[in-house]
This record gives sequence, C-alpha cells and structure tokens, in this order.
Amino acid sequence: MTHDHDHNADDHSNLSETETRVLALKTVLSQKGHIDPDALDVLIDTYQNKIGPRNGARVVARAWMDPAYRQWLLEDATAAIASLGYTGRQGEHMVAVENTSSVHNMVVCTLCSCYPVTVLGLPPVWYKSAPYRSRAVKEPRGVLSDFGVTLLESIAIRVWDSTAEIRYLVIPLRPAETIHLQEDELAAWVTRDSMIGTGLPTAPAVKP
Ligand code: FE
Repeated sequence: MTHDHDHNADDHSNLSETETRVLALKTVLSQKGHIDPDALDVLIDTYQNKIGPRNGARVVARAWMDPAYRQWLLEDATAAIASLGYTGRQGEHMVAVENTSSVHNMVVCTLCSCYPVTVLGLPPVWYKSAPYRSRAVKEPRGVLSDFGVTLLESIAIRVWDSTAEIRYLVIPLRPAETIHLQEDELAAWVTRDSMIGTGLPTAPAVKP
C-alpha cells in the first residue's frame, strides 16, 4: 500500500513543497497584518465541523431511509456517494462500514491523516495526533471512553486503517428516537464523530 498523497498542513513533520509555501505565506501575511489568524481558524473550524461533514450526514440519512441505497452504499460506496454529488478530488476509493447491534466500527489512519474529505471535510486535529493514531488500534475502547462513548462489552470494535487509496465512512446505528423523522431531520442527528466511529448520533441542539 502506498501512502504518498497530500498531507495536511498541520502535520509539519512531512510537508510537501506546496504545504511549506502555504505555511510560509500564512506566517508572512499574519505578521504583516493582512490576515487574522483567528479568522482563519474560524474558517477552518467551519470546514471541519459544519460544512464538511454535512455531506456525509446526508449520505447516512439516505442510507437510514432507503434500504436500496444502503445496500448500494455497502457494495459500492464510491458510486453511491457520487450519486449524491459528492466526488473525491484524489480519486480515492470509498468504503462504507455499518455499525450493528454487535459491531462498532472506528476509523483511523495509523501512518498519517488519510480521511474521507469528500464526505467529512477537513480532519479534526485529534485525528492527526499521534496518541489517537496509536491508541485507536491498541485500545479502541479506551479511546471511545475518552470521547464519552461506552459500549456494551458484547459489542465488538472493529478498527479500519485508512490509506491513500481507501477511505472509510462509518454508518452509525440509527437511534430509535428518530423513527418518525424524515431525511432532512435525520441528517441533523449525524455528527462528524459518529461517521468516524468516535461518537454516536446525537439529537441536534434546539435553536433558541
Ligand atoms: Fe494517511
């Protein structure tokens, strides 16, 4: 398996020429006062937490609603995801893994930070951190507990190691409380972390 692909700019240990240039530009522009690093952080947060993962949430909500789509997603995730208009820029192969009452799936990239950008946007900082990358494999239950997720001992945890070629999307279990909801409302329950496997679907916060 090769692992030669664009790495995220936060991973300073192994920057490509382009990334080095971006980092240099960001530093110079900040120092000269042309850009506000805080504003940039807000922008990155938007793509990490808000806009990016909404694509994946729509995929999951569709799979929850439509058994034929769910089947297609499990058999050929790249095509099923592309049918909703989400196509990768790096030509990576998507694989959907489904949580069940006996199996919980969790995704990591042990070597660097391979991430399903097409459906989840930018990876969170912890996903790229050395502790997550090593502990997710060695003690996934401990990592889940750090994220506030406790699963029954009877539920097996399966950890999937992403590569430049294969990116995984977790299809979380649909919460029983959502039985009456339609697709749009369902998507609001699908959090980014539930699609990485470090979280579970959560009721959306009620707007004041
Ligand atoms: Fe990687």
